[in-house]
Amino acid sequence: MAYPMSSLEDIARAISSAKRLLICGHIMPDGDCLGSVLALGTALEQIDKQVIMAGPDPVPQIYGFLPNIENFRVGEPPENSYDTLIALDCSVPKRLGSGYCDLPAKDHLTVINIDHHVGSDSFGRYRYIDPRAAAVGEIIFDLLELMGIKITLETAICLYTAIATDTGSFQYESTSPATHRRVARLLEAGVPVARINVNLYEEKARASSFLLGAALNTLSFSACGKVAWMTVTRELLRSLDAGDELTEGLVNYARGVRGVEVGLLFHELADGRIKISLRSKEAVDVRRLAALFGGGGHPRASGCEVTGDLAKIQAEVVAAAVSAAGGEAH
Ligand code: AMP
Ligand code: MN
Ligand code: MN
Repeated sequence: MAYPMSSLEDIARAISSAKRLLICGHIMPDGDCLGSVLALGTALEQIDKQVIMAGPDPVPQIYGFLPNIENFRVGEPPENSYDTLIALDCSVPKRLGSGYCDLPAKDHLTVINIDHHVGSDSFGRYRYIDPRAAAVGEIIFDLLELMGIKITLETAICLYTAIATDTGSFQYESTSPATHRRVARLLEAGVPVARINVNLYEEKARASSFLLGAALNTLSFSACGKVAWMTVTRELLRSLDAGDELTEGLVNYARGVRGVEVGLLFHELADGRIKISLRSKEAVDVRRLAALFGGGGHPRASGCEVTGDLAKIQAEVVAAAVSAAGGEAH
């Protein structure tokens, strides 16, 4: 049975009556997911809630500076000692990852789903989905304000990171006047903007630069010039001793070429599946494009994972992207 959409007040009440909460984000965690989990978790600890923050995948090194990141548990879900599950930034239960994705179906858990993906309404007794929010971090900001929980410097740093990363440093069209008003409040709380941006963008592992060089060497264009793509194989990652998380952001180099409307990154995962990141500039709804291949996301940023032969998958996805961009394949 689908429950109706909740208000933030409903969410606040559900959290208030919870005793022990498990707060989770999505697989291959990004800045919005980690920043939002840590901000909400830290804030709820301030009001004496028992909180577990956890997820299946390791934290990318660039997020190691986030306050309280050491409290984020990586691996299997913790033992059954919580009454409430809060899922952040997850459009479907599958995105919670192995071991976690079955939790929303457990009857004994109160499930709260807070997200900003279009159509993310498939699960949760309590659901607050706002596709106008540039990041889940914006929703958490409003929730803490509604609950009267003071935003400390630690929480502000987490929320700033969530919002800055999901808006591409306030460049994407999702950035609104309200985004800047919230961020202004975070800066008033003392967020060291320059320091955080150095941590996020200017302290990358050396392998990251070498990976960028190698990935750029694979840059290819459709005949119409509207679609560009790059490929990162297992072999390349192995040769550079580079972790999967270093591929984050590479796809922007494919999109960032004059005339390109859709940028794609094909990234071979350890289990053999191909992860595809899709980004568009102004027109193509890449969420729909990803959905054709079993994925999802946002209109300008989406992803999917596909099983099969790399060359064949590439041909299919590029053809679909060319068609969506109104270009010609040959
Ligand atoms: P990524 O390319 O991994 O950075 O993902 C871009 C956007 O697409 C993010 O908002 C993700 O939440 C979403 N996304 C990525 N992979 C999937 C998937 N398999 N299913 C649904 N959404 C996805
Ligand atoms: Mn995310
Ligand atoms: Mn997000």
